[in-house]
Amino acid sequence: MGSADWFGMVLTAPGRRLTESRRPLPTPGPGQVRIAVTACGVCRTDLHLVDGDLAFPDHPVVPGHEIVGRIDAVGDGVGDLAPNQRVGVPWLGWTCGRCEACRRGRENLCRIARFTGWQLDGGYASHVVADARYVLPLPANYTDEQAAPLLCAGLIGHRAYTMARDLAGGDLQQLGLYGFGAAAHLIAQVAVHAGCAVHAFTRAGDAAAQAHARQLGAVWAGASDVAPPAPLDAAILFAPVGELVPAALRVVRPGGAVVCAGIHMSDVPSFPYALLWGERRLASVANLTRADGLAFLRTAAAVPLSVACHRYPLAAADRALDDLRAGRFTGAAVLLPADSQ
Ligand SMILES: [Zn+2]
Ligand SMILES: [Zn+2]
Repeated sequence: MGSADWFGMVLTAPGRRLTESRRPLPTPGPGQVRIAVTACGVCRTDLHLVDGDLAFPDHPVVPGHEIVGRIDAVGDGVGDLAPNQRVGVPWLGWTCGRCEACRRGRENLCRIARFTGWQLDGGYASHVVADARYVLPLPANYTDEQAAPLLCAGLIGHRAYTMARDLAGGDLQQLGLYGFGAAAHLIAQVAVHAGCAVHAFTRAGDAAAQAHARQLGAVWAGASDVAPPAPLDAAILFAPVGELVPAALRVVRPGGAVVCAGIHMSDVPSFPYALLWGERRLASVANLTRADGLAFLRTAAAVPLSVACHRYPLAAADRALDDLRAGRFTGAAVLLPADSQ
């Protein structure tokens, strides 16, 4: 590969394998920076895009929205951002700033938001162009591959955790996490650090994920259809399985909360009203704001998180997605472009 080329993995339609592609290097426009990617996390949302669970744009997509790299070119008007600076690019890539949601400080719900690795080319690539306003500084105590999963798994986990705590009345002592993958393994450590007892629910028989949860400080780990030893103040659902909604409501105390953290979930089955009765709350978390990003990354700087990375060369992105779908690793998959050139 020549240094003037862009190299990346492109998805042309749902259900297809990714295609290796080369193009001339993109040039950043006004307000944009170009980043030489050093690591990009693989998120379950990427899998939903590949599997056709999300609306597919009218153009080919470069997936990837947990991007770490170094700025290598800047357009006009990018503030303090400068070449060689290490930065991260998350899921929220652009908002209008004018719609009702944006004006209310809820840019995560912007009606015409554009997302990295969906409407905008993402980080399964050697380089990415990003809007300078949506680029995040990264804490120095993480390597590039460790920092990548922070940018979605960490951020969305943080937003879900904060919402769960607020909905449960601010007092979160017993927390359940359903699906112990990339997001749960990070937010579990934040919760344990805050003095919370973490209960990890996994697929039945997933001894590796349960052992990983205990190793990170969970007081209990078991199958998702088993009752934990204590009623939960709140539960966060990271697994995209609708049956988990009534299962979680069943083990949450009155006044507690269940928060669904994924962008897609299979249908929620009907359930008796008694499971919701008692002022239990059921909510979803959508996307994230730049303020979430800054808040979580401050936390990650202060609470040293152990990030379990499963490394793949960029060209093996399909294999990483297959392994994520099948649950073949614990922690977070990370693509490394340097291993593919
Ligand atoms: Zn807007
Ligand atoms: Zn994500």
